[in-house]
Amino acid sequence: MSGYPASMQESIKKLNETRDFRLKQEIPRLPFAEREKLLHAHHPDYRASANAEVHLGPNKGQKLTLKLVQLLEAKSRLDPDKVDLNKIDYDVDVLVIGGGGGGVAAALLAQENGAKVMLTTKLRVGDSNTIMAEGGIAAATKEIDSPERHFMDTLGGGRFKNKRDVISALVHDAPLIVEWLKGLGCMFDTHPNGDLVVSFAGGHQRKRVHSCKDLSGMEFMRVLRDEMYNRQIPTLEFSPAIELLMDDQGNCSGAILLNMETKQYYVVRAKAVILATGGIGRLHPNDFATTNHYGATADGLVIAYRAGANLLNMEAIQYHPTGAMWPHQMLGQLITEACRGNGAQLVNKNGERYINELETRDTVSSANLREVQERGNGIITPMGTQGVWLDTPLINIRGDAGKLDRMFAGIVRRFGEYGIDVRKEPILIFPTQHYQNGGVEIDPYAQTCIPGLYAAGEVSGGVQGINRLGGNSLLDIFVFGRRSGTRAAEFAKKRKVGKLTLKHVTEYNHQLEQLGISNDVESPLLLPNYMREDIKQVTLK
Ligand SMILES: Cc1cc2nc3c(=O)[nH]c(=O)nc-3n(C[C@H](O)[C@H](O)[C@H](O)COP(=O)(O)OP(=O)(O)OC[C@H]3O[C@@H](n4cnc5c(N)ncnc54)[C@H](O)[C@@H]3O)c2cc1C
Repeated sequence: MSGYPASMQESIKKLNETRDFRLKQEIPRLPFAEREKLLHAHHPDYRASANAEVHLGPNKGQKLTLKLVQLLEAKSRLDPDKVDLNKIDYDVDVLVIGGGGGGVAAALLAQENGAKVMLTTKLRVGDSNTIMAEGGIAAATKEIDSPERHFMDTLGGGRFKNKRDVISALVHDAPLIVEWLKGLGCMFDTHPNGDLVVSFAGGHQRKRVHSCKDLSGMEFMRVLRDEMYNRQIPTLEFSPAIELLMDDQGNCSGAILLNMETKQYYVVRAKAVILATGGIGRLHPNDFATTNHYGATADGLVIAYRAGANLLNMEAIQYHPTGAMWPHQMLGQLITEACRGNGAQLVNKNGERYINELETRDTVSSANLREVQERGNGIITPMGTQGVWLDTPLINIRGDAGKLDRMFAGIVRRFGEYGIDVRKEPILIFPTQHYQNGGVEIDPYAQTCIPGLYAAGEVSGGVQGINRLGGNSLLDIFVFGRRSGTRAAEFAKKRKVGKLTLKHVTEYNHQLEQLGISNDVESPLLLPNYMREDIKQVTLK
């Protein structure tokens, strides 16, 4: 029995009837002007309510994504007067904040370069977006490809808003990163002759995404975490950073951590700090569902901003075109772009295609929204929500009978649990929030504008412009994780920490008061609050 109710079966029949025709159908990519028109009309970033002006701090006067502005204009959850900065709990060369792929890569390289390192994270090491990554990592490793082509694709995909020197670092380190991961024991997908399998992702003109089935992040995190534990790098879990520390010479010099269990504060003094706290998904920009893990609450952006770091491209959020829309229990979960890279098509309720599936994510998401919201071509679920089809059986039809099981084992299993056999039936999808395109501005060595503060991975800005290409984030976290680790260790060797201070937090709070800005929120948020409004009211009384 199918996991789709009878009301949705009618449309699946139409999809089956048009499959032979669609197999031969070519849909050209959109010309520039048409794509711009589509984005302006349907991409959520262009909604009037998407962004708001921030009234203080380094980006004062600029418009950033609304839910972030609410946190930037909230009071610190720390009363600076209540912390004794003379009582140092941990004293290290390099403090890494965040236990996903970017943070662990940074910790490994900082240690390799002679630093005494400590890593602290909000949940457990590995609880992160990295471990959830599916499709794989982009790198120009094949003869028909080159870092220069990868550069051009990344720049165009980012709508020319990326920093060119930073992309240059990204694409030139990329083949090295694949070798590094292999050396750590990572089992990439290979052909029978041992060559690495590569796939297309939207906006890449060459096949260059390297995968470990559709569980790439799990495999990367497995080898990284093993390596970190083997090297006995000290880690603290359930101990998020809630403010950065500065010294009296204006250098970033550690952080205040909160033990989530005991509610104790820890003072960590460090000669250099690497921020690798990941993204923003659990703020649910524009009220979209998200693919992100529970701890993706923009903490790094907030604490870096209070300390004086500027943000880049934080008006741009990535909505992935293919989030699950049915079964409802899987709402917003990612269906990797590699499905489209391997031949799955997007189809409306009438069995028609409406966009080239390998356009960039912002364009495909906008086309999906147009199909449902403007053209009325969505498939309605029993919950009253709507989506369009991702015709997954095409992956086996175009490849071979075992391809879905071989490359998309996770998706086959997850949908199988709900009675949906993705080898025979399509998946109902809708755009879902996936990635923050911008973040704390970095240079090619992951240095922010604050001496002693580095940023790597999704928390950083400048790499991806205003639209990231598939596979470029797993690459980003390792390139700039490694670079930040190396640079932070070098920086630490040269410096002595001055007198610790939280003056920047006191001054920020004071500015909020002077501007008359007050809301009930404290930031960083640390965890999302999903309590229903009516229950919140009762609990607060
Ligand atoms: C479902 C899914 C699939 C994806 N698939 C791909 C893919 O195939 N290819 C690709 O290139 N990209 C993919 N991405 C994007 C990519 O995985 C992420 O952007 C990337 O892994 C982020 O790595 P990171 O180290 O920057 O952050 P994360 O991996 O999210 O790690 C951040 C860590 O910081 C911790 N943290 C947060 N706040 C604090 C705090 N205040 N103090 C201490 N610690 C804190 C978090 O708990 C977490 O452990 C995917 C993302 C998702 C969600």
